[in-house]
Amino acid sequence: MKRNTTQNEYDIVIVGSGIGGATLLNRLAETGARILLIERGQSLEDSCAARDSKAIFVDEKFRPDEQWLDGNGQCFNPGNYYYVGGNSKFYGAVMLRYREEDFGELAFEEGISPAWPFNYQELAPFYHQAETLYQVRGKEGQDCCEPSGAKGYIGEPVADEPSIARVRDKLAKAGAKPFSLPLALDIDRWMDRAKTPWDAFPDTGTGKMDAESAALNPVLDYPNVTLMTDACVRRFHTGADGKQIQSVELVHSGQVLRISAALFVLSAGAINSAAILLRSRNDKNPEGLANSSGQVGRNFMNHNCTALLALNPFRRNSAVYQKTLGINDFYLSDGSGGGPLGNIQLLGKIDGTMLKANLKAAPQFAMDWVARHSVDWYVMSEDLPNPDSRVMIDSSDRIVLDWRRSNMTAHRKLLKKAKRLMRAAGFPILLSQPFDRRTPSHQCGTVRIGNDPGSAPLDSYCRSYDHKNLFVMDASFLPTSAAVNPALTIAAQALRVAEHIKITELQ
Ligand SMILES: Cc1cc2nc3c(=O)[nH]c(=O)nc-3n(C[C@H](O)[C@H](O)[C@H](O)COP(=O)(O)OP(=O)(O)OC[C@H]3O[C@@H](n4cnc5c(N)ncnc54)[C@H](O)[C@@H]3O)c2cc1C
Repeated sequence: MKRNTTQNEYDIVIVGSGIGGATLLNRLAETGARILLIERGQSLEDSCAARDSKAIFVDEKFRPDEQWLDGNGQCFNPGNYYYVGGNSKFYGAVMLRYREEDFGELAFEEGISPAWPFNYQELAPFYHQAETLYQVRGKEGQDCCEPSGAKGYIGEPVADEPSIARVRDKLAKAGAKPFSLPLALDIDRWMDRAKTPWDAFPDTGTGKMDAESAALNPVLDYPNVTLMTDACVRRFHTGADGKQIQSVELVHSGQVLRISAALFVLSAGAINSAAILLRSRNDKNPEGLANSSGQVGRNFMNHNCTALLALNPFRRNSAVYQKTLGINDFYLSDGSGGGPLGNIQLLGKIDGTMLKANLKAAPQFAMDWVARHSVDWYVMSEDLPNPDSRVMIDSSDRIVLDWRRSNMTAHRKLLKKAKRLMRAAGFPILLSQPFDRRTPSHQCGTVRIGNDPGSAPLDSYCRSYDHKNLFVMDASFLPTSAAVNPALTIAAQALRVAEHIKITELQ
């Protein structure tokens, strides 16, 4: 093993315990390398609030006490979570692969989704490993544009509740091909704790397979692995040449520390990783670290998403969790010879309290009635990379997120298709509301991979072209957002990068 021959305290420092950081750690732990995982947040403790929609959606008990600025200089409080396990503690546990076509160039009315530096076949074995690691349950052969290759599913999909089984049937009769969402979830354990949905609810170790429960916990007892919580990284420091990263500066329990290592992996999430690189600028790297291409913080993507409530006023939706169906009929084409539109999937069951949190002036009884009669969908289209869609740091060191949405023509068409389908399936009332900038749930693209160091900060293994001992392994690396949920692709790439680090750095 090419170990640390210097006075470094660790062989590897990983910043951030989300899907990227924790999955990478899971595979590197077995090498015996001395690894420090630095996490800004704490572990989520179980509490009544963890399953209480008022505490989560009205009191916003779990959101950070943080303000970012948008492109117009307006402050907002982002739904970006800082806990051990990162955003995956709140995720909907949908673990879909990108489609094979997503790795090639795709043409949309409003622009191009560029090709990846490698094809789907390169990632396929790591998708399989990621599905096994996250204990994904699913069924092959139902999803109409499912990518090739055996899946690593550990069991049958989470069952539809009776009201959702009926919706599946109605959709099929209306000509659609609904499929069971692959889910990283043990439904019995989740429901034993309390009968609630899991999408956007925090996981306190009760059945969701997230970055903490599935990837981090199994290796935490290794003697070579150390987890430091309540430790917020401010910046990296380089040696005099500006090339080698020497140490990371952080604030731990109120104290400023510097920790040295041979190798650094930045996994703080697509917005914070870009911000940390920009904040680390120095004389030799005046635009920030890993940024000779000028692309750090650019190409921010977040999916174009709309909540669609399909109501039948004469039938109650008795579902508790609901989130078991997806529809990819319009993923690769609009069905009439036009371009790709996106994915439709169920949201976790909405209740009246959640609706009222978004529509404060509406009477509670009306929101309760709507929620009792609605089947709730998430309509999702690709957001295209645009260098002007950016994460920046202002003169007071605050995060500025200037998100420029793209591809809205395709998104509007998808919403229209979804509404038509729901009407045909027996839902005459359709209410829709787009997700806004306060919800950067599918943030990605800010430190992308590419074959050309002039236009991408990272090579295809997420190594910085500028600093050979720096990797960025989280949603930042994604060169395109596709139109499926990102976590499985982040996990698969983390496993691929771990193999690369083992071979090139640790043998
Ligand atoms: C409500 C919700 C539902 C979602 N549902 C799905 C879904 O069903 N399927 C899916 O695929 N995806 C889903 N997502 C998205 C998914 O959770 C993310 O894509 C994924 O978790 C991102 O992983 P990451 O490693 O890039 O970053 P993160 O999860 O953001 O992890 C970054 C980690 O770094 C830490 N950190 C940040 N800054 C610092 C710092 N300065 N110092 C030290 N540590 C730091 C953070 O605390 C965090 O633990 C959802 C997200 C949300 C919020």
